[in-house]
Amino acid sequence: MLLMSSPASPGRGLHAPASAPAEDARTALGRTRRERLRELLFSSAEGLSLDDIEKILETRRSVVLSDLEHLRLSFRHQDATLLMVPPSCTQCGFTFRLDVPKAPSRCPVCKSRSLSEPIFKAETGAA
Ligand SMILES: [Zn+2]
Repeated sequence: MLLMSSPASPGRGLHAPASAPAEDARTALGRTRRERLRELLFSSAEGLSLDDIEKILETRRSVVLSDLEHLRLSFRHQDATLLMVPPSCTQCGFTFRLDVPKAPSRCPVCKSRSLSEPIFKAETGAA
């Protein structure tokens, strides 16, 4: 009985994917969206809501949240801190705990959708 040998071993000879292409489109000013967000966060005294950031950067909420998380992680090496004022429920007063940038849509206690907006800003210095 003949064993058919496969013509090529799967997975061999494939190049590892090159490092991911930069996803940030450069702005007219030559700065990336994340650089602009970083400046916004540092220059805002009261902090910015996700709505604010979406409008200023003209992007989607999901993009803002992922940029915020990226900055939060990079701040760890930059003697800076991303401050997050967590949202709270306007019905029962439940306050969310934010470890990472996110925008909950619903109170886990009373199921209300009436939540205050999380606020973000940046400061130099470790938390
Ligand atoms: Zn509630």
